[in-house]
Amino acid sequence: MLLEILTYPNPELLKVSNPVKKFDRHLHFLLDNMAETMYEANGIGLAAPQVGHKVRAFIVDVAINKGDQNQLREFINPKISHGSGSIIFEEGCLSVPGLSEEVKRKEKIRIDYLDRFGKPQTLETEGLLAVAIQHENDHLDGVLFVDRLSPIRRRMAKKKLSKAITL
Ligand SMILES: [Zn+2]
Repeated sequence: MLLEILTYPNPELLKVSNPVKKFDRHLHFLLDNMAETMYEANGIGLAAPQVGHKVRAFIVDVAINKGDQNQLREFINPKISHGSGSIIFEEGCLSVPGLSEEVKRKEKIRIDYLDRFGKPQTLETEGLLAVAIQHENDHLDGVLFVDRLSPIRRRMAKKKLSKAITL
């Protein structure tokens, strides 16, 4: 089932999400629908608050090239630690259509999280997957990628954005 993706400036996108407590069929239904919605929208990541569910869960699939096998990953109640290095990547967001900006992130990260059954998992990763994870993790705290820009570039981005929305 396709879900509606909330877009900027919807205030729901700026709220802090709550930890997942039940790893039941409702959660699995949500995760499955999020995956369907993400693939349909050609995104490489989607967080639950972007589809109106204020819970700490997101999905990522960076196998964007056609023909590549899906590499869907689900992260629940994630905690990022041990970030190192830095990487600049041009990011966009399904909730901020029409805008892409270069954002500086940690190059390597470690993430501790639960899978859909509530089982603890750990992943150490770098590059695009690390960038996507940091971007989606921000959504759980109500932070959008434009908030990660320098003040001047943020002002310019928001100006572009208000134009994109009015037109
Ligand atoms: Zn996003």
